[in-house]
Amino acid sequence: MTLQIELSGIQKHYGAYHALRGIDIAIPKGQFVALVGPSGCGKSSLLRTLAGLETISSGTIRIEGEDITRQPPRMRDIAMVFQSYALYPHMTVEKNLTYSLRLKGVSKAEARRKAEEIAQITGLTTLLARYPRELSGGQRQRVAMGRAIIRNPKAFLFDEPLSNLDAALRVHMRAEIRKLHNSLGATSVYVTHDQIEAMTMADHVVVMRAGVIEQQGAPLELYDRPVNRFVAGFIGSPAMNFVAAIAAEDGRTLVLNFGGKSEPQTIMSPVAFTPGARVTVGIRPEHITLAPPGSSTITLPVGIVETTGSATSVTTATQPEMTVALQGRSNVKAGDSVGFNIDPASLHLFDHETEQRL
Ligand code: ADP
Ligand code: MG
Repeated sequence: MTLQIELSGIQKHYGAYHALRGIDIAIPKGQFVALVGPSGCGKSSLLRTLAGLETISSGTIRIEGEDITRQPPRMRDIAMVFQSYALYPHMTVEKNLTYSLRLKGVSKAEARRKAEEIAQITGLTTLLARYPRELSGGQRQRVAMGRAIIRNPKAFLFDEPLSNLDAALRVHMRAEIRKLHNSLGATSVYVTHDQIEAMTMADHVVVMRAGVIEQQGAPLELYDRPVNRFVAGFIGSPAMNFVAAIAAEDGRTLVLNFGGKSEPQTIMSPVAFTPGARVTVGIRPEHITLAPPGSSTITLPVGIVETTGSATSVTTATQPEMTVALQGRSNVKAGDSVGFNIDPASLHLFDHETEQRL
């Protein structure tokens, strides 16, 4: 496995503010990596650090084994695609694509040939003579990508490149970027605050919070075994439900607290606890099903029922609320008291204090 990019012990300060607090990521050649986390967690800082647009306080950046930590951006052979596209408004698509080549002294004829090749790859063949203002958002995004591809870089960096597009186009462009990545055999680092984007596009997902990596791994590893409550709540849609619970005398029964007026509900834990232990129980909405009469694990009052035709979302009238994601349609109505089944094997258990997975 050749490592294309290696970030070790990256620390970054902006004055007194400690923005990156020891980041380690190893990226094999050809991998698609997503950096995901809430706004302000340091994703763009990390990407800009990799591009050489920011200096770091300590740590090492290697590309193909070579230490490039102190090299200027143009020496790094990395291409960055931004949310704003950053196209030259007074140049045609073709000129935008070939600008970097012409700067390097590539002949007009050769630049033209390259532009046609890249236009073919990015679906811009009929648009080469247009100006950016004559393009849709998705087409501008393709020009920005084409401009990166034409440089044949060692890696592509994307900073929330789809956030300016409408929802349908975003889904379409996700697939296009991933296809392009595959066909180029590129190494890509993709920043997004959208965990669905990260999960669907990436081979390797890095979840960040407040300048720290909370967890990194394959998308389904993060979904199946989140290491703490933060990752558990961040990955997955709709988000995981969390309920406070106390272990009963037998150490196996967890008594769930659904707020003042609700009947106490219990669920069997797959692991044993000291009686009285305080546990946060995580339950994914898609792991809760409607129970046949008399067989329910828990019974809860229903607050809201929403349907899209293909799926039904039920929100309970409890504190905290529980979201239940049902396949297809359902007869459940607001105000009903409904029995739900939860497979104990699907529970995620977290320490109440440390929020770490148990
Ligand atoms: P993200 O891309 O995850 O939203 P950023 O990397 O842009 O986050 O920013 C991380 C933190 O560093 C934020 O709290 C932000 O306010 C701060 N920050 C970013 N750039 C600067 C800067 N040039 N000067 C001071 N603080 C900055
Ligand atoms: Mg950002």
